[in-house]
Amino acid sequence: MKILNGKETAETIKKELRELVKQRKSEGRKIPHLAAILVGNDGGSITYVNSKVKACEEIGFESTLIRYDDSVSEEVLLNKVKALNEDKSIDGFIVQLPLPEHIDEMKVTLTIDPKKDVDGFHPINVGNMMLNIPGFVPATPAGIVELLRRYDIETSGKNCVVVGRSNIVGTPLSLLLGKNTNPGNCTVTLVHSRSENIKDICKNADILVAAVGIPGFITADMVKEGAVVVDVGTTRVDDATRERGWRLAGDVKFDEVAPKCSYISPVPGGVGPMTIASLMINTLKAMELKGK
Ligand code: NAP
Repeated sequence: MKILNGKETAETIKKELRELVKQRKSEGRKIPHLAAILVGNDGGSITYVNSKVKACEEIGFESTLIRYDDSVSEEVLLNKVKALNEDKSIDGFIVQLPLPEHIDEMKVTLTIDPKKDVDGFHPINVGNMMLNIPGFVPATPAGIVELLRRYDIETSGKNCVVVGRSNIVGTPLSLLLGKNTNPGNCTVTLVHSRSENIKDICKNADILVAAVGIPGFITADMVKEGAVVVDVGTTRVDDATRERGWRLAGDVKFDEVAPKCSYISPVPGGVGPMTIASLMINTLKAMELKGK
């Protein structure tokens, strides 16, 4: 069994990007600039946004963090999005989800200029991904595909089962892995909460991706001998042994599943860092697509 070390791979990608920034700087060219809007004080969202800003700093990208209180009106937020659309110094930006209930997330997503939508959530980018038109692929599925690519995992002709059909992970990943690309050319099954015989379906997977959000959902009896297992789950669970009182738990029962796998991604240190690295790649792409 080998570990799909997302942390290490993300570090390699960041190093590559750092070199590129250095070169651009020496040529007097523009440096990518990512902005992030964070609303409220949710612990998870703060952590995610901070790690994105930190990654920008490590690479040498410019970053701008815009924070609002939970009570910010939809109008104020939409006006900020419109201002960022117009701001020529910003190449791409994200609005960290979830947003408070009084704000319509889809309205916010639809207001973002697709050319700056580095999260890839705008319908134009979703369509572009579907039709192989250059655009932005959501960072988590893009990061998973990149992880498989960098570990040279054979995907062509393989049975791939993706558990979870969210718009940001499971559904786009199932589409990407089914494409006529490398990695890709998988025979993909997308499993969700209404699926029957999940255990049997998973057992047939050469590549099994768990994006459910239920700690320990994937057990050893659901995994084929020699399978590649990618664990997307990151649920905060209480842990009194940790100073902060919690730890991140994956969707896979790592200890019992790992011995059956050819490759497995851990939590933390697997998909999470690859997601951040992919967002950085998208930001660079946003700048390059503008011909800068
Ligand atoms: P989500 O929107 O909550 O979707 C969960 C999916 O799991 C849904 O499609 C749901 O089915 C399915 N599901 C729920 N219970 C199930 C069951 N008993 N059997 C089969 N399928 C079931 O989640 P998400 O946003 O994709 O996130 C999934 C996990 O990944 C979470 O832990 C999240 O924190 C983590 N995540 C990590 C990263 C990262 O960078 N590491 C990024 C994004 C998300 P229905 O559609 O039928 O409801």
